[in-house]
Amino acid sequence: MKTILSQLNIKAQNSGTSTGSNWLASNANLFASYSPVDGKLIADVKESSLENYEEVIKKSQEAYDVWKFWPAPKRGEIVKQIGQELTAHKSMLGKLIAYEMGKSLQEGYGEVQEMIDICDFAVGLSRQLHGLTMHSERPEHRMYEQWHPLGIVGIISSFNFPAAVWSWNTMLAWVCGNVCVWKPSEKTPLTAIACQKIIGNVFAANEVPEGVSCLITGGRELGECLSKDTRVPLISATGSTRMGKEVAVKVAGRLGKTLLELGGNNAVIVSKDADLDIAITGVVFGAVGTAGQRCTSVRRLIIHESIYEKFTSRLISAYAHLKIGDPLLESNHVGTLIDQDAVKNYCNALEAIEQQGGKFLVKGGVLEGKAYQSGCYVKPCIVAVSGNLPIVMHETFAPILYVMKYKTIQDAISLQNAVPQGLSSAIMSLNLREVELFLSSKGSDCGIANVNIGTSGAEIGGAFGGEKETGGGRESGSDAWKAYMRRQTCTINYGEKLPLAQGINFNI
Ligand code: NAD
Repeated sequence: MKTILSQLNIKAQNSGTSTGSNWLASNANLFASYSPVDGKLIADVKESSLENYEEVIKKSQEAYDVWKFWPAPKRGEIVKQIGQELTAHKSMLGKLIAYEMGKSLQEGYGEVQEMIDICDFAVGLSRQLHGLTMHSERPEHRMYEQWHPLGIVGIISSFNFPAAVWSWNTMLAWVCGNVCVWKPSEKTPLTAIACQKIIGNVFAANEVPEGVSCLITGGRELGECLSKDTRVPLISATGSTRMGKEVAVKVAGRLGKTLLELGGNNAVIVSKDADLDIAITGVVFGAVGTAGQRCTSVRRLIIHESIYEKFTSRLISAYAHLKIGDPLLESNHVGTLIDQDAVKNYCNALEAIEQQGGKFLVKGGVLEGKAYQSGCYVKPCIVAVSGNLPIVMHETFAPILYVMKYKTIQDAISLQNAVPQGLSSAIMSLNLREVELFLSSKGSDCGIANVNIGTSGAEIGGAFGGEKETGGGRESGSDAWKAYMRRQTCTINYGEKLPLAQGINFNI
């Protein structure tokens, strides 16, 4: 890891504040990033001070006045080069993500690939930021809409996708002509610093003004500064529903815009007409991948009563083959939770399950011993429940899978929709009627509805996000770019008279 850190230009002590290729000194606290893999200190980071924050905002305001006049395809050219740099650094950055966050190496590489994919998408988009033209009701008038950038986009991100969430936002925001200020999770600051260093070289080589890409690091107070700041028209916040509710109130209080990507509580319906081989792989990967720390992780399984015994016994035996351990070893399926607080939340959930009458089909627990010395390794578990118990309604960010039975497809859909969150959902079925019902307006109420794949592992081409307590935001593909721009409707009168809309007469 030492070599990787030095190749990524991560030092023993790092500035956490940058305006692009410049890194600012700070008189604020030093905080440490420990790896959940082995519990060792990776490096220290200087938190951004309030003075740093002010300087960053000032620089980004200045940069916006230059960057917004660069033609969008030229901005796309910069994003293209960022994609190339990320490709060159994929292996190193993927390893750092795995080591700092605790996800498997394959998933670390996958996260960087997702960043490269969104760069490609944004490059194409830079030539497609188009509006509509409409027919005017007035003669010799032309009506059309066009899209302008917003200004500074504040990005508050979660620990579980320490780099990808930032790239989904920035690559789109940049081609749209915005400048970005990123406040990454305080649990994964080094991944953020590494990303900023990788792209800082591209920005410097192309004489992109300082301030187009800014980084501030520290705790939630910095996120609060962004939320309150009237100079930041859009806050894109990814994290817990608790955080989203706090951010939403602050930003709405100043009539700013938010893009919220919050917690999920995702279910898979396993029909009696499912291909059970596909269902098992989709469900197990979705439930234990990233140790259950994806917003799209499978948390609930709603199984038809006629196949319940058969399917749960296949699940139990699949869980028996899971290898839990160092996520940097490719033979392991499950890595670590992010930290001791996450382990505490997992243990509290196990207690609540007992109290609320859940029955463990596969027992959970914290792993002990030399290989697990960080204390962040836990056992993925399966719990049989009769419906959505209070603990089931809550997103526990850990590998706990609840299984329940259903009789009719309508009951299954009701169970699926009964939770407060609305991110991802799936049905495993080869039955056209129930698949179409699940996808209809009487079906899943989530932002994502999949058929014969699990709930996690979205591609960047689609709009990503969810409803209800997931916050309603959409990021990444499709027309998600519109969140980073303001729409302007323009009407031009090229005639010699001034007819008024709705035929109103006004003679003077
Ligand atoms: P978190 O809410 O604890 O922290 C996320 C970020 O918000 C951090 O940068 C944190 O410093 C900041 N923050 C916390 N309180 C804040 C406040 N009051 N004001 C401003 N900023 C504040 O979340 P986490 O533990 O890092 O991430 C896990 C959560 O994120 C899960 O709920 C998961 O489902 C969700 N998530 C959602 C998506 C999605 O796209 N829907 C994607 C990834 C993660």
